[in-house]
Amino acid sequence: MIPLMNVARQYHNLEEQLDNAALKVLHSGQYILGDEVKSFEQEFAEFCGVKYAVGVGNGTDALVISLLAAGIGAGDEVITCAMSFFATAEAIAVIGATPVFVDCTEDTYVIDADAIEEKITDKTKAIIPVHLYGQCADMDKINEIAKRHHLYVIEDCAQAAGAEYKGRRAGSMGDMGCVSFFPTKNLGCAGDGGVIVTDNEELYRMCQAYRVHGSGTNGLLAYGKRKGIKVDVDSLDFHGNLPKYYNFVIGHNSRLDAVQAALLRVKLPYLEGWNDTRRAFARVYHEKIKNPRIKKPLCEKDNLHIYYVYVLTVDDRDAFRLYMEENGIATGVYFPVPLHLQKVFEDLGYKRGDMPHAEYLAEHGVAIPMFAELTQDESEQVVRCVNEWIQ
Ligand SMILES: *Cc1c(COP(=O)(O)O)cnc(C)c1O
Repeated sequence: MIPLMNVARQYHNLEEQLDNAALKVLHSGQYILGDEVKSFEQEFAEFCGVKYAVGVGNGTDALVISLLAAGIGAGDEVITCAMSFFATAEAIAVIGATPVFVDCTEDTYVIDADAIEEKITDKTKAIIPVHLYGQCADMDKINEIAKRHHLYVIEDCAQAAGAEYKGRRAGSMGDMGCVSFFPTKNLGCAGDGGVIVTDNEELYRMCQAYRVHGSGTNGLLAYGKRKGIKVDVDSLDFHGNLPKYYNFVIGHNSRLDAVQAALLRVKLPYLEGWNDTRRAFARVYHEKIKNPRIKKPLCEKDNLHIYYVYVLTVDDRDAFRLYMEENGIATGVYFPVPLHLQKVFEDLGYKRGDMPHAEYLAEHGVAIPMFAELTQDESEQVVRCVNEWIQ
């Protein structure tokens, strides 16, 4: 069976380095935050071309914490794309805000920037563009709209670590960028992990506060921001006690752990190469798949796509998937239910037909094998099989 993704092959290629990095942390006795996390944060910020990074427990928490850092909460609205992983909308809803959905485009599958402005109300506080499948949304247009309406832009880069738009890295274009290190993502750790990147020092400090129970001097800063008052952090007296036992806002316990940071530090230098390899396989697919029943994904010319997944669309998807499976090739669906039609959001009042492109993708999109350790033979077998599909 040719798998859709395979993290074991990557581990095997870097086995010794990864084992040593993890063991070093085990021997150090420093397991939460600490030097490994600090070093990784610096290295990842540099990779994205921003000043700051805050390592957190996972990509979902990165979104939650960045929304809190932006001061968003109950009664606010946040605009995002109807086609994404559930976490994008969940992060908005869990802090008491309302997700407002916009359709994706017909061919690039990222948020339709031209459909955003009509969804803005006086309650709108932020836009979360999702760089879906590894391709950046139209950030110039989105930033221009956000600026005009005084909205935050939080990039959901969970599927886009290393992707670029007009030469700028994903995560560096909005106010904050949220990345997931879930094992199958382009940069994955051996468990859960995530990071928020930003160029804004105040947001950086807010994120640091919200990842550790709203405590310490950063917590006091977050308190001041929430209350809209000036606070003097230097006058804060902890009476010789640990600052972490003084809490100022309700936050989370969501930190990147040292083992994950150490593993990520081993992998980060390989990320660009892995993304190049994925692009090379995408080129093979793009050039060699020639089946009139199959539509291939479009990469905008301004974008450096990193192909977290390579998604085709096909009329009779179920039959196609069965055929591929019978021929020893795994496929996947990202995602079968668009966010506006998820049962949990029924009270928001959306109905089928509201987001035709997201709905089409949910019903007809199908991912074929894509990962850096795929072999030439395997990719050619996939091409052959897709081309021989008749129905
Ligand atoms: C994976 C993913 C997330 C969530 O990341 P976790 O680390 O699994 O919490 C959020 N948004 C998108 C688009 C994702 O693909």
